[in-house]
Amino acid sequence: MKSPFSEIPALKDCVHCGLCLPECPTYLATGREAESPRGRIAALRAVVEDRSRVSDAIHDGLESCLVCRACESACPSGISMEQLMASYRQQSRRERSDLPARAESWLLREVIPHPGRLSALVSGLRWIAPWLRWLPFARELPSAKRLRPAPEVPAVMEAVGSCRGTVSLLRGCVADRVFRAETHLSALLLSEAGWKVVIPEAGCCGALHHHAGMVEESREHMRLRWRDLASEGVDHVVIESAGCAAHLNSTSGHEPGFITDTATLLARGGNFIIQQKLPGRSVLSLACHQQHSSLDFDEGTELLENCLEEQIQLPAPEHCCGAAGMYMLRRHQLSRSIGEVARDRFVAVKADQIISGNPGCVLRWESLLGVQKVISPVRLLAHAGGLESN
Ligand code: SF4
Ligand code: SF4
Repeated sequence: MKSPFSEIPALKDCVHCGLCLPECPTYLATGREAESPRGRIAALRAVVEDRSRVSDAIHDGLESCLVCRACESACPSGISMEQLMASYRQQSRRERSDLPARAESWLLREVIPHPGRLSALVSGLRWIAPWLRWLPFARELPSAKRLRPAPEVPAVMEAVGSCRGTVSLLRGCVADRVFRAETHLSALLLSEAGWKVVIPEAGCCGALHHHAGMVEESREHMRLRWRDLASEGVDHVVIESAGCAAHLNSTSGHEPGFITDTATLLARGGNFIIQQKLPGRSVLSLACHQQHSSLDFDEGTELLENCLEEQIQLPAPEHCCGAAGMYMLRRHQLSRSIGEVARDRFVAVKADQIISGNPGCVLRWESLLGVQKVISPVRLLAHAGGLESN
């Protein structure tokens, strides 16, 4: 009988060179070949060629992949671990249904895509978080500051001065509830820079579903977001979450640069004036999807660097912080130990703060360093542009 995993692409392309090994955070944390890109590909190939069944050990090694895509940038064969893992998880979800997988599916189907339910869950968390400290993953929950209700964002913000065009801003799902203040700042910055900003209703882009192998649901969420975001007359879609941006970009069919972020758009506009630099020693941390997707954030990154009084490089800046969306809850122990390696690097360079914008990374860094040390790119820009004093 044909293996249900036989549709998984690119397995034969691996030449076992091992160039991916030093890039893989799970391999570096565990030292196990089974938790490396090469080991995962070899295990899946053995299954597809009927030399092995999907044992618990094989499943565990595959499930521990962060889908950070660091191996993709190193791989001479161009293997997409993102596609490979989405295919595996799609098949595996049909074959297995353990408690964590069922809980994840329930959250992704019944809560995350429904703004009202998600908001109720976050509000509830705010009250019960102090009693959840015994849970192994309690440290990964958003801080009290993030759980507070945030004011609504306007549906439209007109351009200040002459209008350059119209941008549409993604509110997201979790980000809309936990990072709404950042969405508001982003809209303010863009409107000050001469853009009319349209902000459709909150909604999930399906990136978390794709990570979990819920491919059909992911496609449907993508379709809905494109319907809302790319209406006629919109020149750019602005997304602060690099994971959501890379995910939506995978089916966009638009010109390069259509999906962008606030910093890149301000940099390209050429009229953003830096009035004050952020004092102290700052690390600018790029999310995995900023580093390993085809999106170009270079100009925005340069603008952010110019807003810093002193920029410090982290050793191995390309390594994932271990958050990876739901991974930090589902595989919190491995996720945490990868995060602690990143924290030790931050401590070693004696930086005062880290600039990080991807929602999962921000929550991870806030839990590792405390909320005061983590500053989002839009908050940095607001400070630099004189919209905020700190
Ligand atoms: S995507 Fe990340 S965690 Fe997964 S195999 Fe590649 S480097 Fe390792
Ligand atoms: S870099 Fe690519 S080809 Fe080389 S071992 Fe890793 S996955 Fe295989």
